[in-house]
Amino acid sequence: MEDRRNQKIRAGILTPAEIKPSERSARVRYAIRDAEGAQAAQKSGKQLISLDIGDPLLFDFPTPPHMIEAVYQAMLSGHNGYSPSLGAEAAVEAVRAEAARQGIRNIREVFVTSGVSEAIDAAIVSLMNPGENLLLPSPGYPLYEAVLTKLGCEPRDYALDEQNGWQPDVENIARRIDNKTRGIVVINPNNPTGAVYPKETLQAVLDLAARHGLIVFSDEIYNKLLLDPVEFVSMAALAPELPIVTFNGISKAYLAPGYRIGWGILSGEERSVLQYKEVMTQILRARLSACHPMQCAIPAALEGSQEHIPVVVEKLRRRRDLTVSILNAAPGIHCVPPQAAFYAFPRLEIARSDTEFVADLIRETGVVVVPGDGFGQAPGTKHFRLVFLAPEEQLRTALERIQLFSGKWE
Ligand code: PLP
Repeated sequence: MEDRRNQKIRAGILTPAEIKPSERSARVRYAIRDAEGAQAAQKSGKQLISLDIGDPLLFDFPTPPHMIEAVYQAMLSGHNGYSPSLGAEAAVEAVRAEAARQGIRNIREVFVTSGVSEAIDAAIVSLMNPGENLLLPSPGYPLYEAVLTKLGCEPRDYALDEQNGWQPDVENIARRIDNKTRGIVVINPNNPTGAVYPKETLQAVLDLAARHGLIVFSDEIYNKLLLDPVEFVSMAALAPELPIVTFNGISKAYLAPGYRIGWGILSGEERSVLQYKEVMTQILRARLSACHPMQCAIPAALEGSQEHIPVVVEKLRRRRDLTVSILNAAPGIHCVPPQAAFYAFPRLEIARSDTEFVADLIRETGVVVVPGDGFGQAPGTKHFRLVFLAPEEQLRTALERIQLFSGKWE
């Protein structure tokens, strides 16, 4: 017989109990997909130009056909069950070979995940206890903060110095370390600034990590999208003995973000990472495996034709140049030229907040960008992040709208 309470709920006499979310999760923020006001602007008849999401597939950057073919063939030939938890053999081998090309030695584990996002999550979950902190670049990619918040851990910012081309302020990192610090995250090339870090800076960060017994998470997802003749060095190649997890994947330079495939490479002196490796393996077993057929795009990506990459880089270089020249000609906007990836993080000289600026910009012009607040920024400074993936004509239209708008806004 139906419960009386349930009968009353059905009859509309009682309302069902309210389900409360966890307090930790309720604090999680992720600015990039929160673009407020875009839908309202569209409804009011504004034609949107969306420069808020770093998805090359939204513009003229199709996935290389040989990667699509590899997945299709994998499905036809029966790669449709779960894969081993750490990844399909051919995918893991391809990642190992790629790591060797980047100069990474002392590899203790390779794990293939649902996007770099899941690798980040697994690496953090396997490391952190509530109340501990992880040092994150500010500005930086907001997923790290979201994962830490979800776990009841402290996301602790360290400064990237805008006056110094957005390079990490190593002295500031040193000052932010305390006895609850477990690791340092480096995003190189950086999202949202597009900065690439020289060997000396990376070495200084590694020295700090070694001195304090910290692990380094090096997020290198943009390492093949270098727009200037700068050298990219993988941190793990500089310090084979130190515990480091290097993140990469096929979402950016390999133009397949929807495949949701990334990986982590754990390297370092064997004894120092043994327990961590075991816990991470256990965590990854519990979620069974990354999508098996999609993993078959990894060997195709890393070992197949690389011909699309210089084409992508050339398009991005032209779009970067256009972005920087128009933004730096706009009143109250200063943009450090990004050296890599497809993001610019210009500073606003305005009295009100960047959130208000962006909300007004979307409402009046239909150009959608993300307020700097969502990435972290030095107190008192204001920025926004713009994705310059759009084709030149569309990008120019958007940038000119921003230029005109900033002249009228204060
Ligand atoms: N790390 C950085 C620095 C990113 O910018 C992104 C995506 O924009 C990710 C990780 C997530 O990558 P994926 O789509 O492979 O999960």
